[in-house]
Amino acid sequence: MFEWNVDQVEELKRLWAEGLPAAEIGRRMGGLSRNAIIGKVSRLDLPRRREAGKPRKIVSVPLIPLEGGVSFNDLKSHHCREIIGWDKAAMGLARYCGAPKVGGDSSYCRKHHQKNHIPVRVR
Ligand SMILES: [Zn+2]
Repeated sequence: MFEWNVDQVEELKRLWAEGLPAAEIGRRMGGLSRNAIIGKVSRLDLPRRREAGKPRKIVSVPLIPLEGGVSFNDLKSHHCREIIGWDKAAMGLARYCGAPKVGGDSSYCRKHHQKNHIPVRVR
């Protein structure tokens, strides 16, 4: 049976924490079997990982918990179209300002119309 020395245990812990698959860790550690790695990991009581090979990438989408505004589904023609955030409850769909539009051909309320349109100077 393979005898683990301290350096090897440390290396195992490091690679395990990086999320490498057990088989890959075994290969890097000089050709140990996947079972040898998993056996040692369980004896060391290392934190369990997702056994799906590579660690799943976490895509960070800034989801702002929102109050107010109008969801995509509730958006009506008179609502301001300014996107104020992303709706966690609605699978990340945009959430809109929803204040009444200023009118004319603007898609925004007064506040957002001013923000999105450079005022034309009247001479
Ligand atoms: Zn608005």
